[in-house]
Amino acid sequence: MTFGGTPAAGEFGACPNCGNESLRLAYTDEVFDHADDGAATVTVRATNVPVEVCDRCGKSFVTKETLRVRHESVCRSLGLLTPAEIKAIRERHRLSQAEFAEITGLGEASISRWERGRLLPNRGNNAYLRSLRQNPELVAQLRREFCESQRESSSRLGSQGSARFRSLPAAEVRRHQVRARSFNLIAV
Ligand SMILES: [Zn+2]
Repeated sequence: MTFGGTPAAGEFGACPNCGNESLRLAYTDEVFDHADDGAATVTVRATNVPVEVCDRCGKSFVTKETLRVRHESVCRSLGLLTPAEIKAIRERHRLSQAEFAEITGLGEASISRWERGRLLPNRGNNAYLRSLRQNPELVAQLRREFCESQRESSSRLGSQGSARFRSLPAAEVRRHQVRARSFNLIAV
């Protein structure tokens, strides 16, 4: 599927093997084994996997889209939420990855990797995510609890007089000290 003289939609401007500039997008069905943390091996059937094909040399190439579709098939075979499904839970509540991490207690780096398809959630996290997906009210509740705990900790800090000074950035503190010293010099 090429459009005029422009390269095929995708990552390759030209065939990495022969330099042919018109690669064709093709869809294939694949069956491959996925080793689940080295323990069990699952046979994954992936349908409509996009690849870019060079009709001149006959080679086909894997793109980011190929990897995305394969990863999604692995998730489905293992009964895990897909990256898009995980992202949808968070976006439904208009939360950033950092906010979603804070209110759920899940790791921000893990959330980012799950959403990019770099990491599969383990069974426990998958079950947790699934219940957050099925019960939007649960996310709202976690959010309320998080906000309450934030309010409590900030009012605790507020009651300690010196807390505000301790949180001054180091540079700011130094500036105050320098000003105090030079004032002393003038006074003397
Ligand atoms: Zn080629």
